[in-house]
Amino acid sequence: MLPLTETLIRASFINATRSERGNVLLPADLDRIPWDRLDFLGWRDRKLTRVGYVVTELDGALVGLIMRESDTRARSRPQCVWCNDVELPNDVVMFSTKRAGDAGRRGDTVGTLVCANFECSRNVRRLPPLAYVGFDRDAARDRRIETLRENVRGFARAIRDGV
Ligand SMILES: [Zn+2]
Repeated sequence: MLPLTETLIRASFINATRSERGNVLLPADLDRIPWDRLDFLGWRDRKLTRVGYVVTELDGALVGLIMRESDTRARSRPQCVWCNDVELPNDVVMFSTKRAGDAGRRGDTVGTLVCANFECSRNVRRLPPLAYVGFDRDAARDRRIETLRENVRGFARAIRDGV
């Protein structure tokens, strides 16, 4: 994704009150983020440890989401619904995300099982195993990257549009 500034990130949140938006703790060093290897920006709040943030491009605009880790226990073998990683290199947790607008103010949330620290972009860039002789691992990796982008955009759209 293209590099983002603090101003762009703060302005992007669609499911936050004005004070929640002001309280967002941004990543420590935006200049050191490997933007060209990210499909979306995701990070945990350094103080509010159960809170995470996701910023993605959607329909030509930036959409930022505040996500809260819920107490719901994940299944015994959870799988991230965004990167679909089956090798579990990291924890996967349930996040509850408030919908934008009136629905969110009424308490309407969406639950989703995602990599605990939003490691998805890194996970999909690992070269997949050779499934069979002649298997095109690079093409498979490209498909995983595109699927991840579609999954995150689909989630952001659901939060934004309430569908
Ligand atoms: Zn993931």
